Amino acid sequence: MNVRLETIAAIATAPGAGGVAIIRVSGSDARAIVGSIFRRRSGHGIPTSRRVYVGQLVDRPGGGVVDEVLVFAMKGPHSYTGEDVVEIQCHGGSLVSQRVLESVCVAGARPAQAGEFTKRAFLNGRLDLAQAEAVADLIMASSEGGRRLAWSQLEGTLSSRVRELRETILRARALCEVALDFSDEEVPGPTEEELKLQLSGVRGELEALTQSFERGRLRYQGARVALVGRPNVGKSSLLNAMAGRNRALVTPIAGTTRDVVEASIVILGAPVILMDTAGFRDADDVIEAMGIARSRGAIDDAACVVVLLDRASPLGSEDELVAEAVRGKKTVAVLNKADLTSYTTCDEVRALLGPVPIVEVSALTGAGLGDLSHEVGRLLFGASEASEDEEVVIFRVRHRDAARKALEHLARAEAAQEEGSPLELIASDLVAAATALADITGDVTCEDVLDRVFADFCLGK
Ligand code: GDP
Repeated sequence: MNVRLETIAAIATAPGAGGVAIIRVSGSDARAIVGSIFRRRSGHGIPTSRRVYVGQLVDRPGGGVVDEVLVFAMKGPHSYTGEDVVEIQCHGGSLVSQRVLESVCVAGARPAQAGEFTKRAFLNGRLDLAQAEAVADLIMASSEGGRRLAWSQLEGTLSSRVRELRETILRARALCEVALDFSDEEVPGPTEEELKLQLSGVRGELEALTQSFERGRLRYQGARVALVGRPNVGKSSLLNAMAGRNRALVTPIAGTTRDVVEASIVILGAPVILMDTAGFRDADDVIEAMGIARSRGAIDDAACVVVLLDRASPLGSEDELVAEAVRGKKTVAVLNKADLTSYTTCDEVRALLGPVPIVEVSALTGAGLGDLSHEVGRLLFGASEASEDEEVVIFRVRHRDAARKALEHLARAEAAQEEGSPLELIASDLVAAATALADITGDVTCEDVLDRVFADFCLGK
């Protein structure tokens, strides 16, 4: 179903000087509007679909020339928005593109709001809501991992997963309805077991989807990781070795690092910011004590911590200070200085930090750094390179909240079944769960949700 709306226009390319700028016009009058201010080099008339025209764009019908442009038209419904779309390529200056946009508006279009093209694509059934959001996420992706995630959602992986779950819930509801409709006849109702199995299966899958949110968000946005340990365990050396450059100062003098030094690396395609922190010890020096306070701040900020221990010397009271400071955080233990004789065992590390993964490395020779990246990646993103692209994860708060709501209704339906409540009650919670999921794909969504989603888009998309 195509919705007939006003014709809208916007500059689709980023502001600033560039080779080319694109002004996009969408709506049933798009071709006529552009046709009225476009003088083709050969021939006249409204641009037709699938052809590219070169000519001059004028500031109003019969007016002065603004720029020489390329114009091409795409006829709805086979366009991004599903409507007739015309794109004008002009020289890529802010002023030129602004003047072209003004001319198109003088000729009858109105300036588009942020995200309005994609909103029309949604309204015209070209994309569902999760895919429309993925368009914005793809545009804003700042890492390869984030791009892959957004692209996979734009392709519809999340949408089809959500629809499958929804259909399973609706099938369970249908079982209840059939049993209600034919309760006096000889149609067998859902056996307790059958319904129970269906509900617990779908709950497990929904739980997995909801729980993927933290990982998904870290994968999309990247994560901060704090390197912590007592002075001289090799934190700065490890930061430099992982970043592949001398970012932090390395000296044999304890207490050199006083501020948090950062370096950006990539793990499983996601940006990871490593933070080298001041070493933990009882410091008399005021500045060093301030540095240690900042280390605590870095631990709070971090999605996970890497605790460094010096393998070449026995553990001591300063390591206990560190263990205390990271309690409750996701932790990887690193036994550094693997190139030297060992004085510390893995059992001692576990006694200090609990059952955390332990990696032996040498920041000096680079041995074990790959294993460390692997462990940090596993802890942050819960995935390996191989499984990463196959797993459907969510990373938008809106999707997580909808999945949680569905889960709550499902849990209620399960509890009702457990208590032997009437089938009507179970069925109504199942409908509510399915509706919450439909919110993700926009199959059932109210206008204010749409407004909020599309308000976050950039102009021209
Ligand atoms: P930080 O105080 O924890 O940041 O430790 P640094 O990175 O400044 O290192 C302290 C000292 O340990 C320096 O002399 C480093 O060269 C040395 N060091 C760091 N990592 C290693 C390692 O893996 N092997 C050896 N042999 N020495 C290391």
